[in-house]
Amino acid sequence: MAPVFRFAPSPNGYLHLGHAYSALLNFDLAREAGGQLLLRIEDIDATRCRPEFEAAIYEDLAWLGIDWEQPVRRQSQHFADYRAATERLAAMGLLYPSFESRAEIARLIATEEAKGPWPRDPDGAPVYPGVAKSLSPQVVAELKQADVPMALRLDMTKAIQASGSLTWTDQGVGPSGETGTVAARPEAWGDVILARKETPTSYHLSVVIDDALQGVTHVVRGQDLFWSTSMHRLLQQLLDLPQPVYRHHPLVRDTGGAKLSKSTGSTSLRELRAGGTTPADIRRLVALPRRAAS
Ligand code: GLU
Repeated sequence: MAPVFRFAPSPNGYLHLGHAYSALLNFDLAREAGGQLLLRIEDIDATRCRPEFEAAIYEDLAWLGIDWEQPVRRQSQHFADYRAATERLAAMGLLYPSFESRAEIARLIATEEAKGPWPRDPDGAPVYPGVAKSLSPQVVAELKQADVPMALRLDMTKAIQASGSLTWTDQGVGPSGETGTVAARPEAWGDVILARKETPTSYHLSVVIDDALQGVTHVVRGQDLFWSTSMHRLLQQLLDLPQPVYRHHPLVRDTGGAKLSKSTGSTSLRELRAGGTTPADIRRLVALPRRAAS
């Protein structure tokens, strides 16, 4: 079976050098392996994603000399697939609704932190304290009736009981040099949100469903997502999905050593292009070998 790679950007800003590196690496690896490169638009967040950023993704990737299989999968068109997965997890008794606002959660965490250190997830956010798990069915029914915004959370303790311990194979390297067979640590994420009433999915859930539905065999992406793989392996196991091979690559950093980011206005590929940078220069900048034209 020919390997299937994918590049999966979110159209919430213009692509920068870090995206160029990831996209070119996926493209080169797919070519070398005689495989396919898919492009997936991760646009579940309607408040941040914009059509002009999506159009710019196609333009910037084509400028880099990358081509990809058609059709492109756009996550916003596949909410039914994600809903089916949450229904399955719910039927397994692994989800519970929670109704707190962000401000309420911040208050709950502040109360906990006043008593002592409180755990943070691999992205640095405080772990959810699990309070909604003890709401009575009657209170849940009332809150639903009153149309209070609702999130569906994974009951991590039960989920891990159902999955057992898990590993993944990483051909790249994690933030502390992890490589090869890596032990998944989904507990570090706590009771994560898998869906919300207004967006019936989440990053973790849609990535896992799409990688499976698209037959992705090789997930090549930035090291910032290394520990997300714990969640992905857990969901794959719970939903009976195949596990791809992973390869997490180091992040391209700016001259000050900071991670490039759309939100902090890192120089976009289009600005570099407007300033006269060529695709060959981009390959040099991210230290990837120049490809012979094919
Ligand atoms: N959409 C994610 C991002 O732009 C990448 C998801 C992935 O590669 O798993 O950061």
